[in-house]
Amino acid sequence: MKFSLRTKLTMSYILIASICVSLISIISNVYLDKHFKDYIINNQEKKNSEIVNMVAQQYDAARGWDKYSVQSIGIGALENGMIIKVKDNEGMIVWDAMLYNSGMCHDMMSRMADNMYSRYPGWKGEYVENSYPITYQGEAVGKIEIGYYGPFYFTDSDLAFINTLNRVFISVGVVSLFLSFIIGALMSKRISKPITRVISTARMISRGYYGGRNDERSDTKEINQLTDAINDLAQNLESQERLRKQLTADVAHELRTPLATLQSHMEAMIDGVWEADAERLKSCHEEIMRLNRLVGDLGKLAKYESDNLTLNKTEFDLGELITRIGQNFENEFRSKNIVLLINVSEQRIFADKDKISQIIINLVSNALKYTQDSGQVNISLTGDKDGIRLSIADSGIGIAKEDLPYIFERFYRADKSRNRLTGGAGIGLTIAKAIIEAHKGRIEVQSELNKGTAFTILLPKKQA
Ligand code: ADP
Repeated sequence: MKFSLRTKLTMSYILIASICVSLISIISNVYLDKHFKDYIINNQEKKNSEIVNMVAQQYDAARGWDKYSVQSIGIGALENGMIIKVKDNEGMIVWDAMLYNSGMCHDMMSRMADNMYSRYPGWKGEYVENSYPITYQGEAVGKIEIGYYGPFYFTDSDLAFINTLNRVFISVGVVSLFLSFIIGALMSKRISKPITRVISTARMISRGYYGGRNDERSDTKEINQLTDAINDLAQNLESQERLRKQLTADVAHELRTPLATLQSHMEAMIDGVWEADAERLKSCHEEIMRLNRLVGDLGKLAKYESDNLTLNKTEFDLGELITRIGQNFENEFRSKNIVLLINVSEQRIFADKDKISQIIINLVSNALKYTQDSGQVNISLTGDKDGIRLSIADSGIGIAKEDLPYIFERFYRADKSRNRLTGGAGIGLTIAKAIIEAHKGRIEVQSELNKGTAFTILLPKKQA
């Protein structure tokens, strides 16, 4: 059987309250029985000696026994559950409760028996009698027999005390149950309400509505963590979904131009409008090459942009890597008459060498691509014990201010017409940024139109 959180919490509160109240009443009753019994037995001894004293004071050598006073003491004792019999030295009865009023004595005995049965069903009690000597100035003048229901008994007021105590326990129990029900219901409502909301948010997410968020805060830590986790999940799914749509749109956009060009060229040639000469076929071939490059770039993008980009880290000298890449570019720089200045020191870093060299190649080839003849490109590498700073600066065409925030986005090209000719698809920087971020580093750009561009890479030397 499945219960709601609310039912379970309320039931547990009630259960705890019932267990506590029952335990308190049982333990109290057990202790009460033991101590109250001892108290009653002690008290009986005290009452007996008080009666003996009081009766002894009613004897006077000159006048003998004051029978009326003994009688009033005897009636008082009878009312308290004691049957007394006073005899003088000769064994003559001075006063006897049984003789005075035997009906009252029997009534009193059966009342005490009832009191005891009401508390202890099956109680076995009997009449007990104790005898005490009565002395006057050191000499025995008689004796008193005190009888009562034994071994001990509860008077009406004793029983009333015990019953009141038990009634208090019952009232406390009832109030506790009521309170635990109310508090349980309130508490469970406070806990289950935000959980219910989280469930409905999660259901919305599972149906594909990623926009739903749960902003309500609870005073329960775990519930806030659950809400945050679900909100993060929604956020991630939403951004994944956006990325997916964006990527599809971008790819469609990128494919459209070369495909349209190819289509129109082919149609013109099929219709005989154009002759299929070498030059036109070459132009078609170039478009096909562009498509090919684009498909290759898309493959790379998928590899580098995925969140779990795996890095194969080793320790190597970044300065040496840069020098080697620079040497590979020497001819291209020379043919464009661009000066390439490399100023690096030995900087050992722990990183994925292939991927880092991919970034440097991207940035250096961009610098070469976007710098006019007779320009200059500076590569410098500095570092301290924690990290390195690599700068690749050119005196090229620069990037317009309005384009700067977007150049790391995929397929973004600052100058579309020019870039189409240079062949860039606009993903080199996207890949560079993804690799650097996977290394817990940062890439920054500073640029001024027609003056030049500087890319700065900051990388920690050691990564976890
Ligand atoms: P692409 O393959 O088009 O070069 P990138 O992602 O490498 O793609 O660069 C994105 C855009 O940023 C480029 O199209 C270009 O407009 C601009 N850009 C990148 N590097 C430079 C640079 N050194 N000088 C001027 N513009 C640059």
